[in-house]
Amino acid sequence: MTQQSITLISFGYFGKHFLEKIAEAVQLEFKVPVNFRESRLDLSEFFDPGRRQYNGDKILHAVESSSTPDNLKTMGLFSVDLFIPILTYIFGQAFLNGKTGIASLYRLSNERYGIEADEKVLLERFTKEVIHELGHTFGLIHCMSPNCVMRSSTYVEDIDQKYRNFCHSCRKLIGPESMTPER
Ligand SMILES: [Zn+2]
Ligand SMILES: [Zn+2]
Repeated sequence: MTQQSITLISFGYFGKHFLEKIAEAVQLEFKVPVNFRESRLDLSEFFDPGRRQYNGDKILHAVESSSTPDNLKTMGLFSVDLFIPILTYIFGQAFLNGKTGIASLYRLSNERYGIEADEKVLLERFTKEVIHELGHTFGLIHCMSPNCVMRSSTYVEDIDQKYRNFCHSCRKLIGPESMTPER
């Protein structure tokens, strides 16, 4: 049996420390090995000149096709403004019950909203979004529990309201088969 793992692939510049912190949090939540690496993707082909944003659907498919088959889940990390045709913007998206997700920190920084930069806040928000999208790949849909990481977020304030953890019922839904045996 293939070793289950989650791979975080950064497309764009993220500090090593920043990525380590995210990997640590993801590992804690999913209890499978998490590794991260950097990669390159020519994003110009995903740029929509009319919207001046990047097509999240196309990027998700591109990350999906670049992921290696033995990986349990692959998460692409971006710093550009993502959209899907029906929405003004997205923080990220993932294939439900699939193996690939993407997230961007573009709209997560305080500076975007005219507030003083705060690296800790940015890291916290991004961590939650990464865990949220990975949750979708594990088959989880949006959760109504107010603090659950699977609660849907439209604004950064919504992200700040929730924890970086799954609620009890979401955690149960991930199921033991996708996790390494726990003692
Ligand atoms: Zn979601
Ligand atoms: Zn939940």
